[in-house]
Amino acid sequence: MPTSTKYIIFTGGVVSSVGKGVTAAAIGRTLKQRGFKVAVQKLDPYINVDPGTMSPYQHGEVFVLDDGAETDLDLGHYERFIDIRLGRVSNFTSGQVYAEVISKERHGDYLGGTIQVIPHVTNEIKRRIGLVAKETGAEIVLIEVGGTVGDIESQPFLEALRQIRNEFGRDNVFFVHTTWMPYIAATGELKTKPTQHSVRELRSIGISPNMIIPRSDHPVTDDLVEKIALFCDVDKRAVVPMVTADILYEVPLLIERAGMPDYLIDLMGMKARKKPDWSEWEDLIKRVRKPKPSIQIALVGKYVELHDAYMSVRESLKHAALALDVEVEIAWVHSADLEKDKGWDLIKASHGLVVPGGFGSRGTEGKVLAAKYAREDKVPYLGLCLGMQVMCIEFGRNVLGHDDANSSEFDRSTSYPVIDLMLEQRSITDMGGTMRLGLYPCKLKSGTRAARAYGVPKVDERHRHRFEFNNAFREDFEKNGMVFSGLSPDDQLVEIAELKDHPFMVGSQFHPEFLSRPNRAHPLFLGLVRAAKERAKIK
Ligand code: GLN
Repeated sequence: MPTSTKYIIFTGGVVSSVGKGVTAAAIGRTLKQRGFKVAVQKLDPYINVDPGTMSPYQHGEVFVLDDGAETDLDLGHYERFIDIRLGRVSNFTSGQVYAEVISKERHGDYLGGTIQVIPHVTNEIKRRIGLVAKETGAEIVLIEVGGTVGDIESQPFLEALRQIRNEFGRDNVFFVHTTWMPYIAATGELKTKPTQHSVRELRSIGISPNMIIPRSDHPVTDDLVEKIALFCDVDKRAVVPMVTADILYEVPLLIERAGMPDYLIDLMGMKARKKPDWSEWEDLIKRVRKPKPSIQIALVGKYVELHDAYMSVRESLKHAALALDVEVEIAWVHSADLEKDKGWDLIKASHGLVVPGGFGSRGTEGKVLAAKYAREDKVPYLGLCLGMQVMCIEFGRNVLGHDDANSSEFDRSTSYPVIDLMLEQRSITDMGGTMRLGLYPCKLKSGTRAARAYGVPKVDERHRHRFEFNNAFREDFEKNGMVFSGLSPDDQLVEIAELKDHPFMVGSQFHPEFLSRPNRAHPLFLGLVRAAKERAKIK
């Protein structure tokens, strides 16, 4: 199968969580800066069909794309670093592959043949890899294989990729292997042996890496680079150590300075279309480094022990703070603590509150308390999905006086279901992929905070929810000071709610955090941070 597309495949060795996704995303950016059309794909070896139903404690945030795909949080890195919009083809799991193969088998498509990992599962993997170039028209496709080499789960993926290298040609498919160099404090040394072992593991399945990125928390000396090159049988230029960056968004610049993109392009036999212009990124990093006055924003969630569960929210806050020339300290507040009278010192010391999305009742009452505090004390508040819903529940209870106002998600028998199941969701019992997902239009009511923040009459935002504001109560809310500043084009769904007499209390039924960019902060986050900055009396 000849191809004109180039593939760069990112594998990981030694341990996970060494920033393989960030590295791949940053390399993607360096290629885009040279005028190439790039696309990305993350292969997740777990058996779940998608991360949508996985616990955020185990998997971190679920990142939602325009077309409604619920994906791995690395897709967020890709979109933010490369500044692209990805679609469903950019992420698949073993679960999806097996589900497809088994359904074809049940359907009789294999005509009674014995179904095996090779070739049936590997063929399905290859089919899905092929879709990316077809659907995006990208010249370079970056593929990240989740997990580390040697995991049982990732073997079919690596086998499929090995086959692809033969089928697409060795001058079209390249492997970049990211490893970890442990530091032995007693002797003050970095160790290359685990890298050597993981490269050997990769070789044993027929894949020789073209490039090795040993990651480390300590500076890597030239003799270590030489040693890795020698033992792993690659060119010295092909070993590019990456020391942990203190600023995430500096990684593309570090990669550029290390000469990695030029080496890759040479390797692929390509020529850069244009000289990369990094002035905007350099300016961004300069602004990150510049000392700035601080504001504190409390993030009131229920998975706060694992910050990755709110990855995009955290990044969006950073983007907005950077745009407004302040430093943002995030106070991670467990919403359930607030119910037990704990954590309020953090809330009270904060200049603004974010209540992010969530499912299930645990910790919800704490979020309602946080919304009450924000409303009464006029503290800037941004509610994201569930955060908008609790803002409405609180208003129903404490402004309108309906003590049992609630979402029917948390109390089926409430007499005042401010938030209720959308009609089309009522008959659905399956857990995965059954929500209102992906990009939907929202028209903004002129003169409102939301409309002023966006500066345009209509926006498209990404959604992931089952419940909605209940239209039966709209009038009652509006009469008492709540403004529905964003609605679906047919007026049927409340998309944004805001309080009239408040410096900034805005909730969106969608998730603005998925569309914020380091150089283009999201208007609603800008609104919150601007109001928080005012509260902190920073000019
Ligand atoms: N649980 C709520 C719903 O399904 C909110 C979802 C969310 O915050 N993403 O509508």
